[in-house]
Amino acid sequence: MSIPREGTTLDPWYDQYAARTAGLSGSEVRSLFAVASRPEVVSLAGGMPFVSALPLEAIGARMERVMAERGATALQYGAGQGTPELRERILEVMALEGIHAGVDDVVVTTGSQQALDLVAKLFLDPGDVVLAESPSYVGALGIFRSYQAEVAHIPMDADGMIPAALTERIQSLRAAGRPIKLLYLIPNFQNPGGVTLSSERRLEIIDIARSNGILILEDNPYGLLWFDQAPPQAMRSVDSDGIVYLGSFSKTFAPGFRVGWALAPHGIREKLVLAAEASILSPSAINQMVISDYLSSADWRGQIDVFRGLYRERRDAMIDALEHYLPDLSWTLPGGGFYVWLTLSDGLDAKGMLPRAVKELVAYTPGTAFFADGDGRRHLRLAFCYPTPTDIREGIRRLASVVRQEQEL
Ligand code: PMP
Repeated sequence: MSIPREGTTLDPWYDQYAARTAGLSGSEVRSLFAVASRPEVVSLAGGMPFVSALPLEAIGARMERVMAERGATALQYGAGQGTPELRERILEVMALEGIHAGVDDVVVTTGSQQALDLVAKLFLDPGDVVLAESPSYVGALGIFRSYQAEVAHIPMDADGMIPAALTERIQSLRAAGRPIKLLYLIPNFQNPGGVTLSSERRLEIIDIARSNGILILEDNPYGLLWFDQAPPQAMRSVDSDGIVYLGSFSKTFAPGFRVGWALAPHGIREKLVLAAEASILSPSAINQMVISDYLSSADWRGQIDVFRGLYRERRDAMIDALEHYLPDLSWTLPGGGFYVWLTLSDGLDAKGMLPRAVKELVAYTPGTAFFADGDGRRHLRLAFCYPTPTDIREGIRRLASVVRQEQEL
């Protein structure tokens, strides 16, 4: 044990952490949770699914039945790749988005977050480059950082990532001799941007990635939560060799089960299973069994319809309130998912504004959380998934008052 250097930290082990932990700092989202969870605060910050809309008692009864009928299996270790029953069911879920695959190609993971971590672990060496949308999912950026990779953000517009900008960035990185390992995309109702990648661009981007030998990581937790019309088919539906696809039950069912999956080309899938086994031996048997049971005998499609109706109403409440209270600002119009991306007027700083917002009892996530390079000061993410429409309106009213106060400074 070494004595901590003065002014560094009170943690006596400070000097002994691995170099890769340097980027391991609490995210802005995380530190917000404590403040934003006070009941008087309208939190538009966290992306928590509205699980109270689930039939909780019926799910409890399912859990009891699984235990009564197959308790010894449910409480045992299982296969590292996940149960064949659940992998079969996952194929049915993915078919809704145009994906056809074999049961052996699926790896069940502990949320898609673990799948992200495993893919990063398999591909990223320190100094490697990951291409990602600008902005991108804070939880993925944290993982890429933890493997000491660098994220290069590619601009988006209302149709998602801009292919010409992607090509340009690939060329300049290649010219500088940088190894590009992954192209990370959230094509549907992007977190945090709220935008959806158009079908033409999906094909263009697949072509660009293919011709440059770059593996696509398609992260799709929100695709089934569309409001007005279904998004274009998954990128994986047209390319099975160059894409690792990630899915999750967190948004269409419940995040508390922590069950997601990866669908990967054969060689990668084998490595993923080995890496998953090394990391957690096997995913939770009981949770997989409950989800298999739910997918085989509950009206899960009907439940997704319930969620879609509920989130559509909340999206509408948020957009109406923005039009009413903040008509001079601009924002994205999500066709599904959980998030609106708001742009403040020039000179305002969403992160700097947050303490005043919390004082006025409204919370949001500052845009800087979604950039690896400190960009995004003028932006913020508003999540409409959890608060009621009434609270959303009140939250936006409070936000508007904060923005006005800042503009007057
Ligand atoms: N990817 C994206 C884009 C997300 O928004 C989230 C959750 N917020 C995840 C992955 C992780 O989800 P989970 O681990 O619950 O499946």
